[in-house]
Amino acid sequence: MNELPPLRDVIDAHGLRAKKALGQNFLLDLNLTRKIARAAGSLEATTVLEVGPGPGGLTRALLMEGAGRVIAIEKDERCLAALEEISQAYPGKLEIIEGDALTLNEAEVLGESQSSVKVVANLPYNIGTALLVKWLTPQVWPPFYDSLTLMFQKEVAERIVAQPGEKNYGRLSVLCGWRTKAELLFDVPRQAFTPPPKVTSAIVRLTPHPRPLFEADLSALEKVVAAAFGQRRKMLRQSLKSLGVPAETLLTSAGLDPTRRAETLSIEEFCALARAFASHP
Ligand code: SAM
Repeated sequence: MNELPPLRDVIDAHGLRAKKALGQNFLLDLNLTRKIARAAGSLEATTVLEVGPGPGGLTRALLMEGAGRVIAIEKDERCLAALEEISQAYPGKLEIIEGDALTLNEAEVLGESQSSVKVVANLPYNIGTALLVKWLTPQVWPPFYDSLTLMFQKEVAERIVAQPGEKNYGRLSVLCGWRTKAELLFDVPRQAFTPPPKVTSAIVRLTPHPRPLFEADLSALEKVVAAAFGQRRKMLRQSLKSLGVPAETLLTSAGLDPTRRAETLSIEEFCALARAFASHP
């Protein structure tokens, strides 16, 4: 909005020197933040949950792109006054919560709202994976959101979308692919941030499948995937020994060749393994 000052002035006026411990790398280019907001699809009649608004570059973009409502959770209390100015420019549209996204109870914050919910965030790099895992592992599925549009370090983004046989294929790829459709949309160069991080970033969009693609118990799946990738170069008959049940028996009942390695297994095969593990006496 016209009456809001440029983000660089906001940062100076509120003394928002970036803190490394909070993963603070700010985006000041509204063209870029609007592109990220648009990557989430239509925001009309949508409640957007934004994690880590900081000085509010992406927050402004979400509102400019027509978000019905934005709920933003920020841990750094220095940013709250700057965010309050955005809230005043968009009356009734922006709710700011001071808190930690890792412990946020989203259902409580979103209340009874029947509108579509999308999560859009330029995540603090140090807790990005932990937050993603939190959003992918609720006991009840489908989850509270219709999509997650998130910025990660490129290397993490590549792990999220990796397919069997690719070098980045691992625990995160299996979890994401089991419950969502994950797409890598575009890169964001380090120079786009203030201050610039060490590595390139990328935007990923995850859209939950109404039901996971293949039947499996979440905790059994997490255990077998962790054991298999814990020693990713070893054959499964070796790496699965850490599960404490006879590995060869498990593999046989899942119909898998014991000499295979974790990185070759499809999500469907990991689910078969999880079912065999869960039903092992
Ligand atoms: N959205 C802003 C942008 O795009 O310019 C800032 C993004 S910056 C990478 C990450 C933001 O997350 C910072 O403002 C930081 O203070 C905030 N943050 C860090 N840890 C957090 C946590 N546990 N919960 C909520 N916000 C957090």
